[in-house]
Amino acid sequence: MSVTTAPVLPLWIGGAEVVGTSGRFGDVFDPALGEVIRRVSFAGPSDVDRAVAAARAALPGWSDTPPLRRARILARYRELLESHRAELAGLITQEHGKTLPDAAGSVQRGIEVVEFAEGIPHLLKGEHSEDVAGGVDSHSVLQPVGVCAGITPFNFPAMVPLWMFPMAIACGNTFVLKPSEKDPSTSLLLARLFHEAGLPQGVLNVLMGDGEAVNALLSHPGVNAVSFVGSTPIARHVYETSARTGKRVQALAGAKNHAVVLPDCELEFTANALIGAAYGSAGERCMAISAVVAVGDVGDRLVERVRQKAAALKVGPGTEAGVEMGPLVTSAHRDRVRGLIEKGVQEGAKPVLDGRGLKVPGSENGFFLGPTLFDGVTTSMTVYREEIFGPVLVVLRARTLDEAIAIVNQNPYGNGTAIFTNSGNAARTFEHDIEVGMVGINVPIPVPMAFYSFGGWKQSLFGDLHVHGAEGVKFYTRTKAVTTRWPEPEEKGKAGFTMPTLG
Ligand code: NAD
Repeated sequence: MSVTTAPVLPLWIGGAEVVGTSGRFGDVFDPALGEVIRRVSFAGPSDVDRAVAAARAALPGWSDTPPLRRARILARYRELLESHRAELAGLITQEHGKTLPDAAGSVQRGIEVVEFAEGIPHLLKGEHSEDVAGGVDSHSVLQPVGVCAGITPFNFPAMVPLWMFPMAIACGNTFVLKPSEKDPSTSLLLARLFHEAGLPQGVLNVLMGDGEAVNALLSHPGVNAVSFVGSTPIARHVYETSARTGKRVQALAGAKNHAVVLPDCELEFTANALIGAAYGSAGERCMAISAVVAVGDVGDRLVERVRQKAAALKVGPGTEAGVEMGPLVTSAHRDRVRGLIEKGVQEGAKPVLDGRGLKVPGSENGFFLGPTLFDGVTTSMTVYREEIFGPVLVVLRARTLDEAIAIVNQNPYGNGTAIFTNSGNAARTFEHDIEVGMVGINVPIPVPMAFYSFGGWKQSLFGDLHVHGAEGVKFYTRTKAVTTRWPEPEEKGKAGFTMPTLG
């Protein structure tokens, strides 16, 4: 398809499609073909104003809708998502490149957040204390924050938006979503289905665009809270700008996730786990394992098993049955990853497997890169320090578990990590000492279920609260504490001039 004939994706404001007024467009590729398949109309500042105005206009009605009625719309939405699972997965594979089963799995993890959000009336209950003082009671209520914005990355075009808006909306907020401009179709379908489920117009709006739309949202006085997921430099910018303009903010950021492998691990199990975690989705996961710390004498055996398995991976279009790894999202990203592999070679890392020469017959223009494995990596090398976000696994060596833990803890990121061992004692030490938000024990990608919260530590999260689960409810609500006294008939009381105390 030529760029000029590619269909144009609109924005979704107030329950209807509108074309952005910026006059700017983005190209959306099928990365397996290397061709533009759609264009996306970018929002300008006036579209941002319109979307925020639509969300603000819908706020009083939606926040006053009883939580149970809101939850019933979410239940209908979940059913629609389930019946459109294949269509959603197809769009993800088409624009992102990951395999269809992987895309379907990510849709399922998103649906599970909607399922959790259906039960939010239970979590919106406040607390009540009778007689905090003689004849005085206290209770708290949880109220919506207002208009919330969500800014999401390319790598999970359904799951990450679904981490945010179902939770916010179930709590009584209205929402403006700004998805990645690289694979925007899924968000539009998510919004249309919510509308079909009975969501009033204006409660969920979708703004297409890039940094211009994001920055207009961050400085907009009508936006009360911002949820962001993406790379660390942009997360820091979103966090600082939102805080400066008085908004509540959570900004989930980049990662460099380590697997620590002990000599007593199940070697075959561990090698299989590492292959899936490093090369699944072409390494474009914030929970991908991108660094292995091999402890003691396990290193050589492990590297050889991982090399054999990585070399045998089937790479191709994500729509093809049996394919285990698809292309990277854009040619620019593929070239960046290639450049980092080159840098690794220059800096003295040992390329055990180099994916740069890969050719996929029939998809010569696709943005493919084969699995790459580096051994002999040190913490000063660029391939270790940078988040590569591609199919590149680097192996470091450590003499002891303590040394391995120190390597992980010195890394500025702290999103996910895993240990592979048969020792409960070693696993327990690791769990306790490691400075990372999500930990797997013989589980390579420990993504918490919707009823736990998802989030990293250190430079993998700017803000205080993680997404979904109980922390998601906290983020999307404000607490009000109420103190009540009902005087007896004729009770006169007396003026109080001292700080009231219990009694
Ligand atoms: P990105 O930071 O480039 O983009 C994320 C969002 O920010 C997009 O919507 C984009 O349009 C917007 N954006 C880009 N440049 C901007 C700018 N200058 N100003 C304002 N907004 C801007 O991230 P990406 O490449 O789409 O996604 C990959 C990154 O996301 C990786 O770093 C990955 O680790 C991270 N990620 C983190 C998590 C997590 O939970 N911690 C989950 C998924 C992805």
